[in-house]
Amino acid sequence: MHGNRYTGRFAPTPSGKLHFGSLLAALASYIDARHHGGRWLMRMEDLDKPREVPGAADDILHTLDVYGLHWDGSVVRQSERLELYHSVLQRWLDSGAAYRCVCSRRDLDGHVVYPGTCRQRNLTAAPGQAIRVKTPDQVLGFVDRLQGAFSQHLQREVGDFVVKRRDGIIAYQLAVVVDDIDQQVNQVVRGADLMDSTPRQLWLYALLGKPSPTYLHIPLIMRPDGQKLSKRLASPPLDSKTAPATLHRGLHALGQRPPAELANAPVAEQLVWAVANWQPMAIPALTNRLEAELDA
Ligand code: GLU
Repeated sequence: MHGNRYTGRFAPTPSGKLHFGSLLAALASYIDARHHGGRWLMRMEDLDKPREVPGAADDILHTLDVYGLHWDGSVVRQSERLELYHSVLQRWLDSGAAYRCVCSRRDLDGHVVYPGTCRQRNLTAAPGQAIRVKTPDQVLGFVDRLQGAFSQHLQREVGDFVVKRRDGIIAYQLAVVVDDIDQQVNQVVRGADLMDSTPRQLWLYALLGKPSPTYLHIPLIMRPDGQKLSKRLASPPLDSKTAPATLHRGLHALGQRPPAELANAPVAEQLVWAVANWQPMAIPALTNRLEAELDA
């Protein structure tokens, strides 16, 4: 680990209430931080206002509190930090690391990898433009604590990617990196759906001249029909009344083996056990194993 003290975080998007899958990400990052005597910060990723569900942010914070997942310091809200993101974008436009783009989805005609259409256009600022970052002709990779080595050739596999959307909204990839740097986060524990965003984020760390954090991506929970358990698919929100039993189930899903007599103990007591006995390598790396754990 680089940097000073272990600093982790949970960074939910308030597009719905917490569900079991997002609870697992919160739980794993909390326990890992506390096990290492680290700090655990809270950041509300509320940039995509059209997707925000009114009341979801407060609901998420309340649920975390009910589950005994208490964070350090005050909640950082991305919607209050727009100036910071815009100053980074301006720097990249000035240096040529990023450029303006007017391509619509239709222009891209099903291309998954952005073909760089606007790279040489040198567009001047106008409404309705996206900003893309130039990707390098090189492989970027990292070694995940749980998933092992993962890499991508960004130029070939992703293409120059959006850091500010055409609707003016700052892209997740930019905000997450700027904020993790600003909050001195050096350990990221989150869901494996973000594994393939990580090389893009590594490139942004490189552009900003900062070391990237260490990563641990926990597997996603799938529904029996193979769909990811997500807010979008309206997986059931967590019921605060059953918090102790759900927490116990969450620890099992993370491959931990809490004693049966703790099953209905208060959440604080279960967390004390979990922090002291944390075995991150026991987290099932793959979803199918996780499903098996859930059925067990
Ligand atoms: N806000 C993102 C989400 O809710 C997580 C960001 C992260 O952990 O890097 O999916």
